[in-house]
Amino acid sequence: MAITHQPSCSDEVSPHLSVSQALERITQAVQPIAGYQQVNLHLALGRVLAEDIQSPMQVPSYTNSAMDGYAINAADLNVEGEQTLEQVGTVFAGHPYEQSIEQGQCVRIMTGAMLPQGVDTVIMQEHVEADGNQIKFNAQAHQVGQNVRLAGEDIHVGQVVLQAGKQILPPELGLLASLGIAEVKIKPRLRVAFFSTGDELCPVGQPLKSGQIYDSNRYQLFGVLDRLNVEVIDMGVIPDDLAQIQQAFTTASQTADVLITSGGVSVGDADYVKQVLDELGQINFWKIAMKPGHPLTFGTINQATFFGLPGNPVSSLVTFYQFVQPALQRMMGQTDIARPTWKVRCLSKLKKKKGRTEFQRGILKQADDGEWVVTTTGAQGSHMIRSMSEANCFIVLQEHQTVVNESEFVTVQPLAGLL
Ligand code: AMP
Ligand code: MG
Repeated sequence: MAITHQPSCSDEVSPHLSVSQALERITQAVQPIAGYQQVNLHLALGRVLAEDIQSPMQVPSYTNSAMDGYAINAADLNVEGEQTLEQVGTVFAGHPYEQSIEQGQCVRIMTGAMLPQGVDTVIMQEHVEADGNQIKFNAQAHQVGQNVRLAGEDIHVGQVVLQAGKQILPPELGLLASLGIAEVKIKPRLRVAFFSTGDELCPVGQPLKSGQIYDSNRYQLFGVLDRLNVEVIDMGVIPDDLAQIQQAFTTASQTADVLITSGGVSVGDADYVKQVLDELGQINFWKIAMKPGHPLTFGTINQATFFGLPGNPVSSLVTFYQFVQPALQRMMGQTDIARPTWKVRCLSKLKKKKGRTEFQRGILKQADDGEWVVTTTGAQGSHMIRSMSEANCFIVLQEHQTVVNESEFVTVQPLAGLL
C-alpha cells in the first residue's frame, strides 16, 4: 500500500498569527462547559452565574424616607413663605406607622422608615425649625416627592437583574442578598491540569545541581489558576522524554478539561510537546507574531483543550494572561471578560521590531501634575521574571510600531485589571 503524506493541521496554518487572529481562533474553538451546581451564596463568590436572576420582589419593597427629617403631604408646600405643620408622631425604620397623616400634619421620620399613608415628601431635619410639636420651614425651598425612595423605583418584580455568565463579585452578592436569594446556580469548576517540562528543572525545596534551575513556572501557573477559581491539578515536572510526555498527555486528557504545559514548545532537539500534540491530538496553531512568547501551542487532545506555554517565565505568564485566561474564562461560562486598556504618555524611549505585538513590562504611576504616565521596567529579556514582578502593567506595542519616543502616548493594560 502506498504511503501518502497526510497534511496535518500544522501544515495548513500560517506560520505566524497576529495576536488578534490567535485570540479569534481560540474564542471560536472553546465552548462553555455544560452543567451547573446549586450553592449557598457564600460559595458563589468568584464563580460564574449559570442562570439569569429575575427579581422575586420590587426594590425598594416599600416607599421609604431617604433622610432623617419630617414627612409631609406635598399639598402643604402650596403656600407663600413659611409653613407650620403639627408633628403627630415619629416613625422609625422597621416599625411601620399605622395611622394616616392629614394635611396640616407631619411626622418625624428616620432614614429607611416606611412612609405612612397621607405623606409623600420628606424635608431634611436641618431645613426645619422645631418648636415643640410645631414644625416650621420655608415652603418654597422644597420639591414635591423629594427625599423619598419610591417602591419599585430601582427594580421591578420579574426584572432580570443578573445574566448568566456574570462573575459573582461582592456587589453581586449584595444584590442577590437584597432580593432574599439564598442559593444560586453556578457553572461547575473547570478542571485544569498542568505540568512543566525540562531536564534542567529542580523543584523548590531541593538544592540545585550543576546546570539546574528552579521550576518557577509551575508556581506562577498555580497562582494564576488558583485566582481564576479553577480546580488545579498539578502534575509536577516531566523530563524531556518523549514517552513520559506522551504518558502525561494521555493521563491529563482523561481527567481534565484543559491541559497546560510549560516549556518544550520551541524548536530545540528536546522540545517534544508540539510533536506529542501532533501525534495524540490536533494542533490549531503554534506561532504568534508577538514578544515575548511566540511559540504558544494551542490545540486539543481527546476532549481536553491544550495550551503549550513557552518555557521562559515571562513568556509563559504573558501568553497565559493574553490567551489562556480569556479562553478559560469563556470555558467557565463567563461572558463579561473585559480587558481594559488605555493610553498614557510613556516617559521612556522604547524600541521594538516591526511585525509583532510586544507586551513590554511597565510601571504606571501618577506624575506630580496628576497625569498617569508609564515608564519601562528596563531590560525586557523573557527570562527576567523580576520585570514581571516590578511591573504593574503591560505596555502594548502594536505590530507596525518600531520606536516610541519619550512622551509619546502608548497603550497600557494594567495587571490589576487582569487578575
Ligand atoms: P523551552 O521552552 O523548554 O525551550 O525553555 C525555554 C527557557 O525557559 C529555557 O531557558 C528553560 O530553562 C526555561 N524554562 C523552561 N521551563 C521552565 C520552568 N518551569 N521554570 C523556569 N524556567 C523554565
Ligand atoms: Mg525545555
